Amino acid sequence: MKCRHCRTPLAHTFLDLGFAPPSNAYLSQADLSKPEKYFPLKIKVCDHCWLVQTEDYAQADELFSPDYAYFSSTSSSWLAHAKRYAEQMTQRFGLSSDSLVIEVASNDGYLLKNFVAAGIPCLGIEPTASTAAAAERLGIPVLREFFGEALGKRLSAEGKQADLIAGNNVYAHVPDINDFTLGLKAALKPGGTITLEFPHVMRLIEHTQFDTVYHEHFSYLSLYTVNRIFQAAGLRVWDVEELPTHGGSLRVYGCHQADARLTTQAVEALLRREAEAGLQTLSPYASFQARANKVKDDLLDFLIQQKREGKTVAAYGAAAKGNTLLNYAGVKPDLLPFVCDAASAKQGKYMPGSHIPILSPQAIQQAQPDFVLILPWNIADEVMKQNFFIQEWGGKFVTSVPELVVQ
Ligand SMILES: [Zn+2]
Repeated sequence: MKCRHCRTPLAHTFLDLGFAPPSNAYLSQADLSKPEKYFPLKIKVCDHCWLVQTEDYAQADELFSPDYAYFSSTSSSWLAHAKRYAEQMTQRFGLSSDSLVIEVASNDGYLLKNFVAAGIPCLGIEPTASTAAAAERLGIPVLREFFGEALGKRLSAEGKQADLIAGNNVYAHVPDINDFTLGLKAALKPGGTITLEFPHVMRLIEHTQFDTVYHEHFSYLSLYTVNRIFQAAGLRVWDVEELPTHGGSLRVYGCHQADARLTTQAVEALLRREAEAGLQTLSPYASFQARANKVKDDLLDFLIQQKREGKTVAAYGAAAKGNTLLNYAGVKPDLLPFVCDAASAKQGKYMPGSHIPILSPQAIQQAQPDFVLILPWNIADEVMKQNFFIQEWGGKFVTSVPELVVQ
């Protein structure tokens, strides 16, 4: 296989999680008596442009279940993040009723509704029908398509170039990152700004976040690599911010290459830190598997120990990262009898691979487990606040990444 950005043959494995079902392929009761499809989950790193990427495998188009939809609005901290983003960008770039904001992967309108409220014209791009319909009910125009160079050029030809293009947690999910970036270039007004948010691979490595690896996540990005991809598309990263979301994300600000804005010190400083962390050498990538294995082993140790002592453990958050972790560790309902999730669409279903049932959060109150394992550690504070009542029966919270912590 060749690198998706620079076409260099990929010779180095970053992480091999064996085989796993798609992390969002939640199962119904009827599905439990059918065979389940597993796909290889192997991540490579390119030793030329340092793009960390999933290895291609056969029948990848079978991966995405058409009836699955993640609604961004179910996380209150993510909603607050989106509102802050809209306020900051409106102020920083002087957006008004004469501007156009485009969001790629606009989901259920969790972000663009803030621009609608401020009277700023916007356009969502979202191929998933159920979330697109939810956004339209909020008064947001939505194009139900995949984004790439062809759509970017069409928007440009229709006079719909944007002052601001937002892509929050979509860049890492696109299979053809070059085509997507050329689409951004085509749809951007002269003087306009692109912002992209994505988990920072430097944090993933630093905090052993191997559970954020899943099939739908095609790229794991550094500023260095994004800068290269932007340059190849005629764009430039002129500013960057580090965000706490998803365990440590970057928000890069892009413009046309010839834009008058100067590249900020923040870009140079972060490029330097990435170089100091060795991200353009093989060493941090080569040592990652052993660290991931330790997280897995420690979690299994903990669950087996509790079972032997007659203690009960339940999990909170039927998130994709939970599926990666549980499937790699081989955890089944005998060690973890149920997972709670606030999203009603997931309740009554089963986790892919592990077949652990997903219940409503009220199940914690009823079962009174000794431990609640928080699978989406990135929203652990929010989950602990919502479930503080487990202290009534001496319950404790557990997180397992980057290391096992009981509190
Ligand atoms: Zn490459």
